[in-house]
Amino acid sequence: MYQQIYKKLISPIHENIFKRSKFLNYLGFLEESQWWPRDKLLNFQWKELQKLLKHSYEQTPYWCDIFKKLKIKPEDIKNYSDFQKLPIIEKQDIRKNKKSMVARNYAGKTFTKSTSGSTGMPLELDYTSDSYDWRMAVSKRGYSWAGCEDGKKQAYFWGVSLNQESVWKKYKEAIYQTVLRQKYINCYDFTEEKMRFTLDDLNKFKPEIIIGYVNPLYNFAKYIKNLGSIKFKPKAVIAAAEKLYQAQRETINNEFDCPVFNTYGSREFMLIASECPEHKGLHVNIENLFVEIIKEDGSAAGPGETGDIVITDLHNYGMPFIRYRIGDMAVASDKQCPCGRKLPLLEDVVGRTLDIIKTPDGRFVPGEFFARLFREFGEIKQFQVIQNQLETVKIKIIKEREISPEKIEFIRKGLSEVLGKNVLVDMEFVETIPLTKAGKYRVTVSNLPAEPILK
Ligand SMILES: [Zn+2]
Repeated sequence: MYQQIYKKLISPIHENIFKRSKFLNYLGFLEESQWWPRDKLLNFQWKELQKLLKHSYEQTPYWCDIFKKLKIKPEDIKNYSDFQKLPIIEKQDIRKNKKSMVARNYAGKTFTKSTSGSTGMPLELDYTSDSYDWRMAVSKRGYSWAGCEDGKKQAYFWGVSLNQESVWKKYKEAIYQTVLRQKYINCYDFTEEKMRFTLDDLNKFKPEIIIGYVNPLYNFAKYIKNLGSIKFKPKAVIAAAEKLYQAQRETINNEFDCPVFNTYGSREFMLIASECPEHKGLHVNIENLFVEIIKEDGSAAGPGETGDIVITDLHNYGMPFIRYRIGDMAVASDKQCPCGRKLPLLEDVVGRTLDIIKTPDGRFVPGEFFARLFREFGEIKQFQVIQNQLETVKIKIIKEREISPEKIEFIRKGLSEVLGKNVLVDMEFVETIPLTKAGKYRVTVSNLPAEPILK
């Protein structure tokens, strides 16, 4: 009932009159286009890409120079292999050239935001209100696949650092909670006491959809398993902002007793890909983004192959992002989803390129291994794997309760079997594990010299 009223009354007012956005038009378009045949979708995407390239060439000194150096014009780019002639840009290219990347005809008309810079260096970027509307529409559609719609009670587990809390409280909590039936839980400092309070609160609120950072959700699920009793049954949990490991998905799924929907997004582009009810991978929002998975040799990854995620934002005309290496890796897929949506899939998002643990014999150990191993020990509340040198791996552990020396030895042996005998495993028991500035928790942290695995 409330949902119907919301759809008819509140939503159009909120979005169209107060925000004067094209958001609803884009959302209407996206709700249809997701069912288009693949060819039609790709055709639309290609046309949007051509328009973007022409605009970038005409309006930004940076891209104009690149085309000139390559001795080509946007109209010479007729297919994907032509497009691959354009260089892949990195965060440092944007930091160095931001001014010449902003389009002349949008100067002074863009919004600016900065990424959190979990690699240590924040990145400032501009975007237009039109691209914001696209992003909001894409996000809304992606979340709707999990059954998350306006008017349904939603609880957000968000990681927000303390210095942002006052702003956070002022603007979001008051408005969203009352008008949009959304509850926000700040998990930056998610202590057991806070979890107890949160569970009491949610047992009364009874959210239908839970959306949140992966690790607070996972810790909360473990808290419910050990100490709490859940008195509501959400329809879905949407996992965001951090890598979702299979082991974490299983625990969240069991404790909340509902499906878990994985999503992949970033500060630069908002929602990039997300799962539908089939959970066969993440559907890429190709009406708004051109997403490539690029292997070490610069070629596109085939099905099942892993590569760097490279993104072109089709609608941010204020500061075009073309072939931007975002710093995460994904596994490519050519599967068709049984849901009937023809949006292509990513098989999985592997995680941050720079935080993959390497071994001296040249192997990469996925974070999934550590997530699975430590889940087996109820004595361990939280952990983080840090690699400062190739031959040493430090494991920070927060204990739930005492752990026997035999079990510690068992873990150490398990780790050295996987990492190799030449790797020294240093386990350290700590009280807290710091989060990034954006309130994200990193399961693995690699501090090896800043040389991306894939060039
Ligand atoms: Zn699907």
